[in-house]
Amino acid sequence: VASPQLADLAALTEVVGADHVLVDDDVRAGYEVDWTGRFRGRCRAVVRPGSTAEVAAVVRWCGAHGLAVVPQGGNTGLVGGSVPGPDGDGVVVSLHRLQRFDPVDEVAAQVTVGAGVTLAALHERVRGSGWAFGVDLAARDSATIGGMIATNAGGIRVLRHGAMRAQVLGVEAVLGDGSVVSHLGGLVKDNTGYDLAGLLTGSEGTLGVVTAARLRLVPDPPDRVVVLAPLPSVAAAMALCARLRARVPGLEALEAVLGDGLALVCDHLGLAHPFPADPPVALLAEWAGEGDPPDALVEIFGSDDVLVAADGAGRERLWRYREAMTESISAVGVPHKLDVTLPLGSVAEFADAVVGAVQAAVPPAAVHLFGHLGDGNLHVNVTGVDPDDERVDDVVLRLVADHGGSISAEHGIGRAKVPWLGLVRSDSEIAAFAAIKAALDPNGVMNPGVLLPGEG
Ligand SMILES: Cc1cc2nc3c(=O)[nH]c(=O)nc-3n(C[C@H](O)[C@H](O)[C@H](O)COP(=O)(O)OP(=O)(O)OC[C@H]3O[C@@H](n4cnc5c(N)ncnc54)[C@H](O)[C@@H]3O)c2cc1C
Repeated sequence: VASPQLADLAALTEVVGADHVLVDDDVRAGYEVDWTGRFRGRCRAVVRPGSTAEVAAVVRWCGAHGLAVVPQGGNTGLVGGSVPGPDGDGVVVSLHRLQRFDPVDEVAAQVTVGAGVTLAALHERVRGSGWAFGVDLAARDSATIGGMIATNAGGIRVLRHGAMRAQVLGVEAVLGDGSVVSHLGGLVKDNTGYDLAGLLTGSEGTLGVVTAARLRLVPDPPDRVVVLAPLPSVAAAMALCARLRARVPGLEALEAVLGDGLALVCDHLGLAHPFPADPPVALLAEWAGEGDPPDALVEIFGSDDVLVAADGAGRERLWRYREAMTESISAVGVPHKLDVTLPLGSVAEFADAVVGAVQAAVPPAAVHLFGHLGDGNLHVNVTGVDPDDERVDDVVLRLVADHGGSISAEHGIGRAKVPWLGLVRSDSEIAAFAAIKAALDPNGVMNPGVLLPGEG
């Protein structure tokens, strides 16, 4: 395996064009640091292929030169998987130019898009077709469909439509050996072997590069109501969520901000506080359907102190309190971001225990809790301690495992959580992961150091 000098990169410029091989330090810099600022690495070059064939040629070239391929979409990932490692022996492959956009298939309720299409662009293009895309999240303006498949992104509508895996009917991808697989027919029933799309979903760029996908669309109800309610405890919020799930068809979202989260957002954005004081839990619920919401929604929430919005601007205003949490926390400092999920029955006990556990282990820590409460998915963000002080991650993730939860609900393992994968996955499971990786990425070039222990 020859190590490429700068001159060898000329071969890449022949594949993708000189404008799309970026080697200058300043230009590479933005691709080498993640959204949180916690993960930084180095790469030989950033390459921006414009077609699936070009992606395949780049992956083969990296394989021939023993260079890591680091796929990158919107670089909004929160576990350090989209940036290169520190050794500099890799190439960031930016997928932004894969902008395929087929017409919406209104009969099948499906659409085929390129990996570089952003979530916001997908929502925009589908709007007006009578259908909608079932996944939404706050990073929608930058997050790409390829990155969202690679992380099996969740977001604010999992409650109703499931995560990304439930939307993906087929993918086109370049595997680690440079071969292209494509299964974009969109058949609803198709039992013809292994589910490669399912396997690539959530693989975090370790098996191949997703270049396009056939996506399922969902109904787009005309009416929506958002409720923001102050609640006295997580236990009360969980009980209320259960009643809503049982009695309110059409529930789209059940989200929460805990503790002083609302005050943090209000300070950061200069917003008016929605309540006289920070409630222990602010629960946001969204219903979507046709006409008025079910009476049960009103009955369960009651009317005292509850904020309700049915028009677009009002709904957006209430959502800001929840969606701006991530950026408001980052404004405080580089956070430890621990995206965890618990059995629904254990969420309250965990939420009560985690703040004390972190503060006992690392006393100056400030713990911010928010997340997709209806899915049992809490984002435990910790500021006020060194971003590399792993005692924080250790205490939170062990507590999660002790409560029967998972150390990643939706962000993935990335580089951030590799040391803790064994808390929730057995040795035989991890061995099966490694066997799959070896089969699809025989040169070991795809995103080493991400997801699987023992490499990178
Ligand atoms: C404000 C904010 C809010 C967020 N909210 C949520 C949320 O509610 N739910 C949620 O799940 N996530 C959320 N995220 C995290 C992030 O947006 C998602 O993980 C998203 O799926 C990443 O997409 P991306 O295009 O930015 O991928 P990147 O960050 O570029 O990459 C993420 C991973 O996917 C791999 N990858 C990227 N593109 C490809 C490809 N084409 N083929 C193969 N591998 C690829 C990368 O190597 C990396 O491992 C949020 C992030 C921010 C900043």
